[in-house]
Amino acid sequence: MGTWSTYLIPESVQLQPEHYLATVKSALQKFGIIGERQYGDNPNCFSAGPQSLDPFENEIGWKTGFEYCSLYGNSRIEVVPQDPSAEPKCPCCTADVHEQYYEVVNGGEDDQELDYESATITCGACGRSSRLDQLKDDVGIFLTTTYINFDDVPGRLRTDWLAKFKAETGITHRLLEYWYT
Ligand SMILES: [Zn+2]
Repeated sequence: MGTWSTYLIPESVQLQPEHYLATVKSALQKFGIIGERQYGDNPNCFSAGPQSLDPFENEIGWKTGFEYCSLYGNSRIEVVPQDPSAEPKCPCCTADVHEQYYEVVNGGEDDQELDYESATITCGACGRSSRLDQLKDDVGIFLTTTYINFDDVPGRLRTDWLAKFKAETGITHRLLEYWYT
């Protein structure tokens, strides 16, 4: 058993993070995808709304489209995916570097926030250092100031729903679907 975690990252890097956050939140609430209720401690994390199944395929037997929807818009760069779903490899020699990667990403026991943009992973096989977003992964590893994450979804995101979301927000999103166990 495993879980699908779906991310949407805007194609345009010019978007102002706070403006992005307000725009996508308002559209997702208007469509009934996310509820008014906050999920957990994060004020930008939401429980499923009445229409939460609309964006997804293979929804038979599912009561909601996701466990939670997390919206991110902040000048501080974050890494996608946030879940342990990346299987990073060295871009030079393709050696597995997942241990080094998760050590960096999950590191920092203290309150100090990691600077993902300058963090590097050193390959144990060839010794080359790479930025997080340079690592090879089947879906990819990204550094971004804005994203939407639907966690534990029933299936693939529908392209017609993505088009409808673009029409509402004016934002073109890149779709990333990760599987993790
Ligand atoms: Zn290497």
